[in-house]
Amino acid sequence: MEYESLRARMVERLVDEGYILSENVRRAFEAVPRELFVPSEYRARSYVDMPLPIGEGQTISAPSMVAIMLEVSDLSEGLNTLEIGAGSGYNACLIAQIVGDDHLVTIERIHTVYMQAKENLTRCSKAVDVVHGDGTEGWPAKAPYDRIIITAAAPSLPNPLKEQLKVGGKLIAPVGKTAGFQTLTVAIKQPDGSFKEKRFGACAFVPLIGTYGF
Ligand code: SAM
Repeated sequence: MEYESLRARMVERLVDEGYILSENVRRAFEAVPRELFVPSEYRARSYVDMPLPIGEGQTISAPSMVAIMLEVSDLSEGLNTLEIGAGSGYNACLIAQIVGDDHLVTIERIHTVYMQAKENLTRCSKAVDVVHGDGTEGWPAKAPYDRIIITAAAPSLPNPLKEQLKVGGKLIAPVGKTAGFQTLTVAIKQPDGSFKEKRFGACAFVPLIGTYGF
């Protein structure tokens, strides 16, 4: 079957199973070919709902997990967004479809993975700023952000990221002290600088490694 029809079926499934809830997330999944972000040896499995290896022990997350994170991130056009953990670049391309051109910076720690994300993201129709570095320190050059999305498991919410968020902004992250099991957390910045946290169930991500990570 052609990738295009496999993609349409995957989107239908994610909608039926309740992972995709909003129009903007559905449209983003329809627009971005996941096969362009998956290493050639796994390409045939691009539309199976599972994480896949992207090298250096890292993964592109399962589409259902990506959909859950995008929905709780509550994205819309024009929101200034920072992603930590570019990985394959797939999630960055989806985010860029929603927030629009020039509103997304994504950071990757591992140089070879960063190079791959940069290359993959040339296939994204939206402009995405890809940075090599430790995302736990954030990216002050484009701060403050409306949304900061961490796609790796954080032991706690990194302070620099809390500081680089606007009041009313949302920090989205899998949070957990142990590798292999975390709670998807959305922390909303209050006018006094404190955070209100909401939890959205269990998840499993590779660790966030850095000064304010593991
Ligand atoms: N969003 C990615 C995608 O769409 O393919 C999947 C991300 S993968 C689950 C987690 C990524 O976070 C890995 O590529 C890993 O190298 C990266 N990472 C871990 N710690 C990091 C840090 N401190 N700064 C930036 N990236 C980091």
